[in-house]
Amino acid sequence: MDTLLPTNNDARLKADVIVTCCALAQRGLTHGTSGNVSVRRDRETFFISPSGIPYEQLTDIPVMDFTGRWYGNRRPSSEWRFHRDILKVRPDVNAIVHTHSKYAVALACTGQGIPAFHYMVAVAGGVDILCAPYATFGSQALSDHAVEALTGRKACLLANHGVIATGPDLASALRLAGEVENLAAQYCAALAAGKPELLSDDEMNRVLALFRTYGKQDSTHDPDLVFAGPERP
Ligand code: 13P
Ligand code: ZN
Repeated sequence: MDTLLPTNNDARLKADVIVTCCALAQRGLTHGTSGNVSVRRDRETFFISPSGIPYEQLTDIPVMDFTGRWYGNRRPSSEWRFHRDILKVRPDVNAIVHTHSKYAVALACTGQGIPAFHYMVAVAGGVDILCAPYATFGSQALSDHAVEALTGRKACLLANHGVIATGPDLASALRLAGEVENLAAQYCAALAAGKPELLSDDEMNRVLALFRTYGKQDSTHDPDLVFAGPERP
């Protein structure tokens, strides 16, 4: 990348990063300056939230390339390595949200991921949500562990640290971060109530197949459901 030509989308993408960061704080998914957000800009660059700036004070969003060079008035997040590496190896991912949300952190502090205690675990793309082994924040080791734990999945926990949620866009990644926190809270409650019954891989694979069409208005996956017109005569 010899020059950094502005794209038509830059202002909107930077504004979207700020809106997503503020939403994390408003939804209680993260506290203080913990957590960070990135979005793919083009084949060579991505926007990433700056390091250590309170979300309500965000104005400048730095841009980075995949070699670690960055441009802007604020230093990029200390977690730029895992943002870069995930965007590099996952063409299906355009946006990443990292949080320190309460119940997910509680589980991650015991080294546990979230098994198939509820069918909604499939929202993260796999039969379970894995917990990546601990490594120091900002380190290449943490990035390597995170990429591994995300294999075939859209989210993971980070031991003694937090959550990574990904998506095709920032709104999806933010939504998934909220789903993971909700599942973590439910799983903690289930563990407190007794021994949760886990769903089989077969059942979770059935749910994963259903999720491919769930919510899509043009879906025809339910043969017993007959569309009879927009209004009842
Ligand atoms: P940054 O402020 O550098 O993004 O770090 C926050 C964080 O959550 C580190 O893991
Ligand atoms: Zn963190």
